[in-house]
Amino acid sequence: MNGTVKEYTAAIIGGGAAGMLAALTLAEAGVGEILLLERNERLGRKLSATGNGQGNVTNTDMGVHRYFTSEPDKVAGVLSAFGQEQLLRRLTELGGYFTADAEGRVYPASRQASSVTDILRFALAARSVDVRLGAYVSRAEKKGTSFCISTKDGEYRGRFLLIAAGGQASPHFGSDGNGYALARAFGHTVTALSPALVQLKTERGPIRGLKGIRCDCGLTLFGKEKFFCRGDVIFTDYGVSGNAVFRASSRARAGDVLSLDFLPDCPAEELAALLSAKAARCAARPSEDLLRCIVNSAAARAILRSLRISPETDCGALAGRAGEIAARVKDLRLRVEGSMGFENAQVTKGGVPLSEVDDFLMSKKEAGLFFAGEILDVDGECGGYNLQWAFSSGVRCAERIAELCNEDR
Ligand SMILES: Cc1cc2nc3c(=O)[nH]c(=O)nc-3n(C[C@H](O)[C@H](O)[C@H](O)COP(=O)(O)OP(=O)(O)OC[C@H]3O[C@@H](n4cnc5c(N)ncnc54)[C@H](O)[C@@H]3O)c2cc1C
Repeated sequence: MNGTVKEYTAAIIGGGAAGMLAALTLAEAGVGEILLLERNERLGRKLSATGNGQGNVTNTDMGVHRYFTSEPDKVAGVLSAFGQEQLLRRLTELGGYFTADAEGRVYPASRQASSVTDILRFALAARSVDVRLGAYVSRAEKKGTSFCISTKDGEYRGRFLLIAAGGQASPHFGSDGNGYALARAFGHTVTALSPALVQLKTERGPIRGLKGIRCDCGLTLFGKEKFFCRGDVIFTDYGVSGNAVFRASSRARAGDVLSLDFLPDCPAEELAALLSAKAARCAARPSEDLLRCIVNSAAARAILRSLRISPETDCGALAGRAGEIAARVKDLRLRVEGSMGFENAQVTKGGVPLSEVDDFLMSKKEAGLFFAGEILDVDGECGGYNLQWAFSSGVRCAERIAELCNEDR
């Protein structure tokens, strides 16, 4: 624009988990003149909404097997350089205290995701990182030896550029997929994108009457590969939600089949014997009493309906069908019709391919350009893995930029 445009050492697009920790890491490494551009009026809006507002920042069971990516070795390298322990140490140094639940999910003891954003925000202010809010980056390009970054309020320059603009999931938090266009402008490609960690639409018939019910289920997805997990399934008017469904959603496609086991702790034979004895003992009671105190009553009605057993049937008449009923309790099938889309998803599957960046996540197409967080083609399971990736990859880029700055000195 004009000769007075300030040149920063590093400019970062996106003040989410990846961008914030990258900026802080750069500052702590002694890199001066750091610019963090965030389109929202607040930093870390998505981070503040994570884990149902409680902020599940990582998981004690950390490893590359928790991630979907075409380059697991690269992801493993990033996680081993800055993993769960390093993240917790860093967040603790910033003033937080973190605890894990029985499933290894790590939360701030405050159980407030926004408090994690706050400690990062305060540290950025203390380190004099130049944070510009309401700064939507519409264009970024390389001119000579520096990157030119355009916002509606003006142009910035940076010797290094980190794009940490997130993916496309839950766009109301600011990451609406525009980061991919910024990447494409540098010659990068973007793999096919789809919503992950998202509620699933299923056929409604078998779960009619279950809306609002939450059950602890064993869930098997019969898709490209068979996948099993255990956890909450919440029934809705479009299909199913809950943590078990979120875990399966990253692998589910329309046409796949979900099998729900409403009594995962009891083998089918044991349940059949129990139902057979109960049918004889409660012979005059209506059919739904056969499953009372064994599965949720609404689920019991759905299971019996799926076997065309009417509510008027007596338990006594079902003694000979105990095995069949037990089998259905442990295997109620639903056809997947799709997902609730990017609007409702927690993460994006796909992104800038890891084959287009080096081990330090620097672009192979444009020297000095880096990518971190969800914009890359890496997505994790439910349970703190996606924030860990965002933080780890942000730190990886920042440490490399700091090294390159040192080499130049
Ligand atoms: C409801 C919800 C709950 C979640 N819960 C968890 C959880 O408990 N644990 C977990 O591990 N993961 C969770 N996730 C996923 C996790 O939040 C994300 O994977 C992670 O925040 C991605 O970090 P990021 O920094 O890459 O991107 P983001 O957090 O999306 O940050 C990118 C930032 O860039 C800004 N931006 C985008 N484009 C521009 C532009 N052109 N100019 C300037 N700024 C721009 C955006 O406004 C945004 O602030 C959850 C996600 C959602 C939606």
